[in-house]
Amino acid sequence: MPSPANRLAQFTESVIRGMTRLANRHDAINLAQGFPDFDPPEELLAALETATRGPHHQYAVTWGAPRFRQALAKKISRDTGLAVDPDQHLVVTCGSTEAMMVAMMTACNPGDKVIVFSPFYENYAADAILSGAEPIYVPLHAPDFGYDREELRKAFELKPKAIIVCNPSNPTGKVFTREELAEILALAEQADAWVITDEPYEHIVYAPHTHTYAAALPGAFRRVITCNSLSKTYSITGWRLGYVLASAEVIAQARKVHDFLTVGAAAPLQEAAVAGLELPESYYAELQALYTRKRDVFIDYLRRTGLPFTEPQGAYYVMLDISSLGFATDTEAAEWLVRKIGVAGVPGSSFFREPERRFIRFHFAKKEETLRAAGERLLRLADKDWLARAK
Ligand code: GLN
Repeated sequence: MPSPANRLAQFTESVIRGMTRLANRHDAINLAQGFPDFDPPEELLAALETATRGPHHQYAVTWGAPRFRQALAKKISRDTGLAVDPDQHLVVTCGSTEAMMVAMMTACNPGDKVIVFSPFYENYAADAILSGAEPIYVPLHAPDFGYDREELRKAFELKPKAIIVCNPSNPTGKVFTREELAEILALAEQADAWVITDEPYEHIVYAPHTHTYAAALPGAFRRVITCNSLSKTYSITGWRLGYVLASAEVIAQARKVHDFLTVGAAAPLQEAAVAGLELPESYYAELQALYTRKRDVFIDYLRRTGLPFTEPQGAYYVMLDISSLGFATDTEAAEWLVRKIGVAGVPGSSFFREPERRFIRFHFAKKEETLRAAGERLLRLADKDWLARAK
């Protein structure tokens, strides 16, 4: 049998998706792969029903159905203050996952270096490898996961072609400030590098933190390639709708990559999702309040376990420090949590470049009753006698 391509030896299957399969096998509450267990807004469900009876069953325009791009451009313009042209500045993709791959293949040549902050969402290293680029890592330092200016400056001295910024950040919950983004942009300007952002949690940010769109900073639009998705904002992770936002010059190239990768995102779903993009501003305030409440409910349980954890500024992940439980690895701990406690998380090591084995990542995009059920189970971690028996 011929051997598969060498690049495949450089990365594994997704640990996040693997934990979902393990959770399902053991009937555990799945706080591993980040997706809601509640329905999208009623407006989207109604629009989906209508769309199924409409003339939307064949390919949409490859870079996005016109109505969808128009509604998207309007929403993004309102949020960012940019004058987004639906015909020039957008490519609609199958989720931000495809958007990131399109951005990487548009920006990088094989052999180029790409700065990735560590810990990072596991797709980024695979994206770099698939596009032939070499990731170089800059650590984000606990507890607030800021970067060290000197370390970032040194990484830019290696002449990277791009930097990836996940904001708000998965898995740390860090929200990059305007000043940090301006500094990253200035360094990218000096090195003539692209800034590729991944911003699916733009509307899930906890006060007093606020989201800054890197692309909307002065003079940034021609350098920033923004990747985003509707998955988290409208609770439709299975619809696989995302987009790349960039200058007309970049989009002209990105369209080609997208066209040959996937041709296009699902036509009826683009039609239906217009109803989400047209929701009033109050929807986003309610979403923020909803997630603030979920965060508070869940971290109250974590506090009661007595174990340290990271407090997110945005997104919907928490990392619980399980080092005091005495497992050899976080992977062993994560498997034990599924089998003995009945709650699935993701071993933190799958997000870190550094040999970091302290954390399990949980997400809290779940109904309050699910979070309480998981929280009650996790409280066993505070019961020393139970722990001694269960291990
Ligand atoms: N972004 C989500 C997470 O980090 C879902 C990942 C995925 O499976 N696409 O869990």
